[in-house]
Amino acid sequence: MNVHDSEKVIGTLIGQGYSQVDTPEAAELVFYNTCSIRDKAEQKVFNRLQQFKKDHKGKTFAVLGCVAQQEGDKIFEKAPHVSLVCGSASYNKLPDLLIQLETGNKRVTGLSLDTEETFDTPMTRRDNPHRAYITIIEGCDKSCAYCVVPFTRGPERSRTSASVIAEARQLAAAGYTEIQLLGQNVNSYHDPSPAGWDFAAMLDNVGKVPGIRRVRFTTSHPRDFVKGIIDAIDSNPSLCNHVHLPVQSGSTRVLDAMQRLYTRDQYMQRIAWMKQASRPIAITTDIIVGFPGETEEDFEATLGLIEEVEYDSLFSFKYSRRPNTPALALGDQIPEEEKGRRLTILQERQRAIQVRRNATYVGMVEECLVEGFNKATGQWIGRTSQNKTLNFLRPGSDEDLLGKYVEVRVTRAGPNSLAGECVN
Ligand code: SF4
Repeated sequence: MNVHDSEKVIGTLIGQGYSQVDTPEAAELVFYNTCSIRDKAEQKVFNRLQQFKKDHKGKTFAVLGCVAQQEGDKIFEKAPHVSLVCGSASYNKLPDLLIQLETGNKRVTGLSLDTEETFDTPMTRRDNPHRAYITIIEGCDKSCAYCVVPFTRGPERSRTSASVIAEARQLAAAGYTEIQLLGQNVNSYHDPSPAGWDFAAMLDNVGKVPGIRRVRFTTSHPRDFVKGIIDAIDSNPSLCNHVHLPVQSGSTRVLDAMQRLYTRDQYMQRIAWMKQASRPIAITTDIIVGFPGETEEDFEATLGLIEEVEYDSLFSFKYSRRPNTPALALGDQIPEEEKGRRLTILQERQRAIQVRRNATYVGMVEECLVEGFNKATGQWIGRTSQNKTLNFLRPGSDEDLLGKYVEVRVTRAGPNSLAGECVN
């Protein structure tokens, strides 16, 4: 989401007459977009700002994103060379804030979270030539005990279906064939216009835009993940065979402490819908180990869950304390060393699962969108509908395949990628 926010901010600046340069050295105005999801994010931001000050004297600095929202005016005290601090809920006010900056105001802020607006900009500078992102819902109304997002991105607000479809059509006209719908809780989408689409309807309709061959989405919340989403994937071939559904823990007791709003059984019900689909859907997830109070038994429940689901991949993290979050009040913090031990065990188990899962693809022919070329190995880099990297050779041809769709037979599989040969 931050990458795409940066694209939209750049589009806004270009729309205001600024031009983008390749390096901070060449810039007069430096925007620093920040993320506060990981431990010590604030410290890293202040260290980087100090470095900017040394390396780029006389420039105007702006801090954007979650650390801007979280630290607010304090940024001016700790880094007086910063002139603009703006959280993502205020990006739609950037044109006004830039005017204040241009008129010499050295303390410009956009920090209100009290908004019902989304950041719809007529101009977005897109950095990926093949996949385009569309944010359909911003903010979050959940309150997971470990998470800073509700404090940094404001309340949930959805865009109208008409504005999303218009953007998808523009992207198709510009030659994009793959769209990724974004939202902190993308599947909580609810169309504020009279059309009243839910997320499944949005997915289906974006998948029907002429020229769009692939639609992905991230990130889903299990509580709002209804069967209609799987039915839409099952019936519309443009919707990719991949669902990322963060579980966070396999223990209902821990899920309850995390305030995740679902039980293990309810989560597994969603997995069952995916496994019953007529198309093979790749499933990925996020897991936090060492949440306060997580016992060995709870951790074993998480290990059991990953074996049962057989995830295609997962992102795993050690729990870290984040400012303002309800989990700060919980006792029974797990020692760092123990969190590290659990993380290593989890990752080793998952690696073995991925070896097994990926081996089942050997011999299959998969359609790939070609995203790159590796000069060192002479292999093209493709992505399958299941979001797997498939590196392949195309002997006897020097055709430029970038951005094209090709059929590739899988000949080898590793834990993190597949390899094969183009068959067309
Ligand atoms: S659903 Fe939970 S984890 Fe996701 S952004 Fe909202 S509060 Fe954070």
